[in-house]
Amino acid sequence: MPHSCRCLAALLLLCNMGWAQAQGEAVVAASHPLAAEAGATILRQGGNAVDAAAAIQFALNVVEPQSSGIGGGAFLVIYLAKTHQTVVLDAREVAPAAASADQFVHQSFEESSVNGIAVGVPGTLAGFAEAERRWGKKTLAAVLQPAIALARQGFAVTPYLARELASPRAALQPETRALFRNAAGAPLREGDWLRQPDLAATFERIAAQGPAVFYRGEIARAIVEAQQRSTIGPDGVGRMTLADLAGYKVVQRAPLVGQYRHYTVVTMPPPSSGGVALLQALGVLEHFPLGRMDDFGAGALSATHVTIEALRLSMADRALWLGDPAATPIPLARLLDSHYLHQRVHAVDVDRRMPDTGPGFMPEGTHTTHFSVVDGEGNVVSCTSTVEDLWGSGILVPGYGFLLNNELTDFNRVPQAGTQNPGANDVRPGMRPRSSMTPTLVFRDGQWLMAYGSPGGPTIISSVLETTLDVLDDHLTGEAAVRLPRFAVLDSAGDTLIEPALPAGLVDALRARGHRLTLSPDPIGSVQMVGEDPVSHTRWGAADPRREGTVIRF
Ligand code: GLU
Repeated sequence: MPHSCRCLAALLLLCNMGWAQAQGEAVVAASHPLAAEAGATILRQGGNAVDAAAAIQFALNVVEPQSSGIGGGAFLVIYLAKTHQTVVLDAREVAPAAASADQFVHQSFEESSVNGIAVGVPGTLAGFAEAERRWGKKTLAAVLQPAIALARQGFAVTPYLARELASPRAALQPETRALFRNAAGAPLREGDWLRQPDLAATFERIAAQGPAVFYRGEIARAIVEAQQRSTIGPDGVGRMTLADLAGYKVVQRAPLVGQYRHYTVVTMPPPSSGGVALLQALGVLEHFPLGRMDDFGAGALSATHVTIEALRLSMADRALWLGDPAATPIPLARLLDSHYLHQRVHAVDVDRRMPDTGPGFMPEGTHTTHFSVVDGEGNVVSCTSTVEDLWGSGILVPGYGFLLNNELTDFNRVPQAGTQNPGANDVRPGMRPRSSMTPTLVFRDGQWLMAYGSPGGPTIISSVLETTLDVLDDHLTGEAAVRLPRFAVLDSAGDTLIEPALPAGLVDALRARGHRLTLSPDPIGSVQMVGEDPVSHTRWGAADPRREGTVIRF
């Protein structure tokens, strides 16, 4: 080849490499194949990660309605490649203006969780509409299309959905019985066809009229009426008004940023407790040599022991201090101060479970969903989204086909404000209940490495921490990390939940160190990840086999 041609070829190669880097692969990881496909469709049509995330969310409302949807709330952590900026949108549900600290006191958790009193003003639609308006390339109407088609044409019930449909929570009200049961009154089974014409029409109305129809129009009126349902008399009646819906605001927050060894962890601030607890646990664990948890071999006992202890310390602080920052000041600087975390390290006995610290466990749902997307330009969305418990409050808005959340049960059931306690998570009008949702990004030297998160109520914090350690300390691939058996610390004083696949030898050795371990009734978490190899810039995805996680990469 003549020299000039060689130069041209080299130049073309360089240009191509540059282009390949700027226009790398796009990857979607979501907990249902049809939702992942909805995101991929929008990316193929020229949408970016924000457009794809919105399409995934609306599709999840159709194919995984038990976990998230427009009747619930969501947190989005968004990395904008062009400006290297990470933004956080808090679209969490809000307590109505008429809410009061004692509103759950005279009910059991089970009672409040399936009545209108638990329904918070939904934020998911407002959150995605705002993300779309500010950073999307498409219109809200365009990203709703895959969900409209799925709801109208229907889809085959998957094994995971079939299991969830068998729960009595899927059929508490006449509308859910009509939608989710067959003519003989039995729950829909795997392979049955589920069409949701009311939900399709709701999405079409939103596509045509914008989110105002939901927050100020006919859908707002239907939501207010639906949440007045109660099976326990006046105590269970929801207190949301049209003014609460009209006044709903998405909050843009500064992400929480921490250093862990060579990495920068960018995560969800309050009202989530997840980011603070994650960074606190990492701050403690940095003082211990970890690694080798992956094969659960030699180093696993010490690593698992100190990880449980670090989580217990975080959960003790969480119970006291975490809630909506608008309600009570959260001493974030103190909680994340490296000297404070160093002091906490001294509480950890490397040979023995430390004595119980802090308050006890409150029941919380363990459902929800997490999805992660990176587009060709390197924009990333990490989103955890929820209707709180399985099938939310169980109330489907009549004629509109979506479920209302029961997120207000994430507040303290019994108010705790007192001399020693700020009552950070007591119910207060206009406030957001404390969450554990922890959508997270990791960077090294300013370069984005991975995005991930998990459902699972308070177990989210453990699932996200373990995934972080598996990849950063054990150098596992995302795919290997999401498959590992997990454990979960729900609070500082209670038992640690374990999955059955945790090796028996490790379980025995932890018990010998004083840990109380209980078999988890459900799989722990469902982590969906996307990432980029820092050297080859190849992008990857990993989806949790515990649900129907799917990765699409192209
Ligand atoms: N409501 C919970 C939270 O915000 C999430 C529930 C779940 O993960 O199932 O932390």
